[in-house]
Amino acid sequence: MTPYLSVVIPVYNEEANLEALFARLTKALDALGKSYEILFTNDGSRDRSGTMLRDFHRRRPREVRVIDFNGNFGQHMAIMAAFERVRGEVVVTLDADLQNPPEEIGKLVVAIETGHDVVGGYRRNRQDTFFRRYASRLINALRARITHIRMRDQGCMLRAYRRRIVDLIASSGENTTFIPALAYSYAANPTEVEVEHAARAAGESKYSLYKLIRLNFDLMTGFSVVPLQLFTLFGMVLSVLSGLFVAYLFIRRLVIGPEAEGVFTLFAILYFLVAVGILGLGIIGEYIGRIYQEVRRRPRFVIREVVEKLDG
Ligand code: UDP
Ligand code: MG
Repeated sequence: MTPYLSVVIPVYNEEANLEALFARLTKALDALGKSYEILFTNDGSRDRSGTMLRDFHRRRPREVRVIDFNGNFGQHMAIMAAFERVRGEVVVTLDADLQNPPEEIGKLVVAIETGHDVVGGYRRNRQDTFFRRYASRLINALRARITHIRMRDQGCMLRAYRRRIVDLIASSGENTTFIPALAYSYAANPTEVEVEHAARAAGESKYSLYKLIRLNFDLMTGFSVVPLQLFTLFGMVLSVLSGLFVAYLFIRRLVIGPEAEGVFTLFAILYFLVAVGILGLGIIGEYIGRIYQEVRRRPRFVIREVVEKLDG
């Protein structure tokens, strides 16, 4: 019998949270009174997470499926691997660190059942560091301007999808992607609901500043070419201004005579323009790097083993 609900959880070095997560999650799901499966992807954890997930499978062989990655391919690829395998009609994602309370899943499922194909959660009283909250607000605003994706809280991974949407996401075949954004680009009738948010129960965030920046570049370049277009526009404006400046200096040279002062001003302007040039190269590089990754057509993740027990 195929389950009605599939819950997808990426796990990277979460040994300190898994036991509590599993207890709360199974309790919440049992209370819903619907058949379910839980797909954990072990994203190359180096702690005891892998062994613990296998143990969950032993305890609830019908409900728990474990995808064991060969290495660390990132949260979104971990979710992608599970999306390729889900059997449920409704699919819910959440984090393993208990920042997303499993008790909220029911709320998302209800929203799906009232006819929405994508239900995004937005976090009430977000419990993260000051830096993360403000950086995230900034990036959210930027994303809203340069992409067509309308969502309140892109960083919240407590979300629900109709299976049709999940199949579309899984078949997208992208190496670098941002799953909630992909979902919005396929959704016909999305909605958002407010969900609770807790501080990370144990352990530390698995996102370093560098990984966060990479992830946000995936979002921006993966869903918009506005950065490239802005750069072209900026280049055009700058060309016109420089042209006028040259004309002015030329006339001045004829009328007033040669000039020797203003060397440092000149350098300041020059340095600024060089910096802008390097920035532009970087932006182009971001796109080219991703194109390169896609054309190599290497597998986007490598699965070592899938631990599951399916009927039939
Ligand atoms: N995660 C993952 N692979 C990674 C980084 C994170 O599977 O490379 C998982 C992690 O175990 C957690 C979820 O993704 O379940 C969100 O990560 P985290 O809580 O560290 O992110 P934050 O809440 O700080 O944004
Ligand atoms: Mg977290």
